[in-house]
Amino acid sequence: MRPLKAMELLAVWEHGLNQTLLERVLALLTAACPEIDSEAINGLSIGERDARLLQLREWMFGSRIVNTARCPRCTERVEWENRIADIRIQPSPITPSPAEFSLNVEDYGLRFRLPTSMDITAVMNAPRGDSTPQDLLKCCIVSARYADEACDPGSLPEDVLAALGCRIEELDPQAEIRIELTCPQCAHRWNVLFDIAGFLWAEINHWAERTLRTVHKLASAYGWSERDILNLSPVRRQLYLGLINQ
Ligand SMILES: [Zn+2]
Repeated sequence: MRPLKAMELLAVWEHGLNQTLLERVLALLTAACPEIDSEAINGLSIGERDARLLQLREWMFGSRIVNTARCPRCTERVEWENRIADIRIQPSPITPSPAEFSLNVEDYGLRFRLPTSMDITAVMNAPRGDSTPQDLLKCCIVSARYADEACDPGSLPEDVLAALGCRIEELDPQAEIRIELTCPQCAHRWNVLFDIAGFLWAEINHWAERTLRTVHKLASAYGWSERDILNLSPVRRQLYLGLINQ
């Protein structure tokens, strides 16, 4: 994996304008990970994918994350700040985890794999339209046996699925980033789920709009091409912008 150049990031952003969030972040990783083919990117577990997104975010916009959440008790808007190192569990670069795992619960024996972006898409696009977290778990079961006889993964009891859910969380801890918060207004304590995919794409959106405005100003003032301007370091672009406004 490597950092993206301004030109490459703009291309991914532009291409992603009509895509879903999932397609956008997978395209981002495909561009940043030339050593892995796009099928393997799609097959990364959610935690592996998000660990890579955290690394990209650090390279693009630094290691500090500032976000806000609303207190569920008094609705006060609470700002929180974290360093990427504090929320990154898996080391980077990450080697993809083994394809399959096994779990025995009571008389059930399961072979399963970790949920991927593709599984989430498949479950969300299910024709019934009322998908549950259990559907995602069932989607990851490769084979199921009961008392040594093959059985239907769709008919597993809830406690077996719950045990599978716990095991998947243990094996892929980066898949769910939770931030502990305390409300300064009412002292309520709770935790929020942090979605690096949505957060990073919103930042890329702002960055792209800012960058295009900068290109416009520099091109108008100096007659340089878009490529030349994007090839300048961000520091130089800022300095030249400052000179125009003098
Ligand atoms: Zn509060």
